[in-house]
Amino acid sequence: MVDNGIFPTDSDVADLCNINTEDLLMSSETLFPENFSELDVANAQLTVPEHWDKYPNMEAIETKFGLDIGIDPGENQNWLYNLKMNKVFIKLNSVMTVTVSYKPYDAANLSLRAMIVYTSPDDMHLQVKRCANHKAANIYSIDHQDVPVDHILKCYHPHAKYHGSENAQLFGDRLSIVVPLDRPVVNEIGIANETIKWEFLCQNSCTTGINRKSTAVIFTLENEAFEIIGKKVMPFKVCSCPKRDMQREDTSIISRKRESKDIPHGKRPSKMVCSAEIKVEPPTPSPVKNYEQPFPDTQTSHTVTLTMPNKESMKHVLRCAFNEVTGAMARGSNNYEVYADKIQGLLNSL
Ligand SMILES: [Zn+2]
Repeated sequence: MVDNGIFPTDSDVADLCNINTEDLLMSSETLFPENFSELDVANAQLTVPEHWDKYPNMEAIETKFGLDIGIDPGENQNWLYNLKMNKVFIKLNSVMTVTVSYKPYDAANLSLRAMIVYTSPDDMHLQVKRCANHKAANIYSIDHQDVPVDHILKCYHPHAKYHGSENAQLFGDRLSIVVPLDRPVVNEIGIANETIKWEFLCQNSCTTGINRKSTAVIFTLENEAFEIIGKKVMPFKVCSCPKRDMQREDTSIISRKRESKDIPHGKRPSKMVCSAEIKVEPPTPSPVKNYEQPFPDTQTSHTVTLTMPNKESMKHVLRCAFNEVTGAMARGSNNYEVYADKIQGLLNSL
């Protein structure tokens, strides 16, 4: 957890919620001022929403607030946004512009959280953090001194705050950046727009970091109670040649180039599509699979035969089940690995 001192009031609560209970019990004297009472601690704990104790996931959340993320297509080939894949390909140390739009209604103090995750269900529980080389670069360079060394994403908003800890796995403690949406421009139909600049400080190919795994940024629109009132997922790849890598991944790019000749050029940002339409790269096969192993001998296991209306609905149910089991594992439940692996096997078979 990092406090840059810019948010003296609201973020104090946010910081308290980033501290787990053990930290509070073990080091309350050093963490809080003398007048911070036990009641204050209890109140701060109560404000933590349910999803903070679960793993992040790739499911978009659509609400009346209508969160949308507009990606500037870029001008100088330092980054490219592929609309069909809904994926950004970007060079290291390139500043990318994103436009956040939403319907503000009467909500106050909204914020946008950006969190990097691995997209494969096999890796989604792992923290995504900077590699050793780029950590060292941060230490010996003055360029990004405002960014904690574990964070890969940098935000240029003056009031952005960096949260999370290096080895955390659950949502509430994962590395993330929270940006207050404090300067929106509301258009004539009541849509608030705010432009935010981002930069990636590590590459997907970094062997002591991402190590070629597939990655995405989860953007969550949050209210004062940290509840998610909108969520979008933006897959990305930080690489040395965005154009080449995009062409390798998108085999239909040549035909789309022909189509684009009929479309007027402009700087209009492209809207992201719902994550249900996202083409997610296939998960990296894991060398160890327990799909065929029997369930442990337990009196508590429960089985139902479930039929869903379509494949996507079934995938959604299975991902929820995966998050439930792996979340329990993170909280200390033993012998749950086989349940997670069985669910993973079912997901892979769809
Ligand atoms: Zn790196």
